[in-house]
Amino acid sequence: MRAPETPPAESPRYEPNARTRLRRRPQRGHFERATIHAILDEALVCHVGFADAGHPVVIPMTYARVGDALYLHGAPRNRMLGLLESGVPVCVTVTLLDGLVLARSAFHQSMNYRAVMLFGRATAVTDPAESEAALRAVVEHVIPGRLADVRPPSREEVAGTLVLRFPIEEASAKIRGGGPLDDEADYALETWAGVVPLRLVAGTPEPDARLAPGAKVPAYAERYERPRSKGDAR
Ligand SMILES: Cc1cc2nc3c(=O)[nH]c(=O)nc-3n(C[C@H](O)[C@H](O)[C@H](O)COP(=O)(O)OP(=O)(O)OC[C@H]3O[C@@H](n4cnc5c(N)ncnc54)[C@H](O)[C@@H]3O)c2cc1C
Repeated sequence: MRAPETPPAESPRYEPNARTRLRRRPQRGHFERATIHAILDEALVCHVGFADAGHPVVIPMTYARVGDALYLHGAPRNRMLGLLESGVPVCVTVTLLDGLVLARSAFHQSMNYRAVMLFGRATAVTDPAESEAALRAVVEHVIPGRLADVRPPSREEVAGTLVLRFPIEEASAKIRGGGPLDDEADYALETWAGVVPLRLVAGTPEPDARLAPGAKVPAYAERYERPRSKGDAR
């Protein structure tokens, strides 16, 4: 694998390279840090892809972004995290689904989305303070405001968790927005065409059966929603 081209911290974009430059529909490519960070911050789940003894493996995980790094965590005996820790090349993807694009033809049916792909290698976090900060960041990434209400992780819990740092260096976003792109002749068809918008909606919080008396549903759970940035959709 080539050495990653690390952009200077003040750069507003991740410089595209041979791996991250979009060849298919390059007009949908975005490399601005703000765009890529916003997608990472809105999504809840990433998919981590790597090769295990020559076999491709993709695992869904939660994560948190802190600056130019993603933090992943799990049990120290986690097979996948152990492999990642050994420095295998990794591809992380995140996808936000924004809509179903109904075209006049089957061929042009599509989806609106904001997706990010990252390439690199992870390293194990050895500094307990960084591990704890990463674990706190994961809690807050999932539900902002929660950290203030929960028992913080103990020293043993931090020590018993493997935290990996994945630097965001090679990164691309691909964004599709707007309506269907039909063949000119098909615009005369009476078939309905357009977009069915999709978004993640939280339901009513369900109290745990062993809730202590007096425990109230916090506002961040009652009115849960993901931070939303439309990005620069095209
Ligand atoms: C929800 C969803 C559904 C999709 N469905 C289909 C489908 O059914 N068929 C299909 O062909 N394509 C689909 N795509 C697009 C798909 O992700 C690829 O972009 C496309 O297939 C082109 O792949 P490629 O390897 O030829 O891209 P290339 O342009 O050759 O990829 C080069 C580089 O561009 C960047 N890149 C490419 N795709 C993405 C991406 N999605 N997000 C971020 N960076 C990217 C990466 O850095 C990649 O290494 C879908 C995307 C999403 C998010």
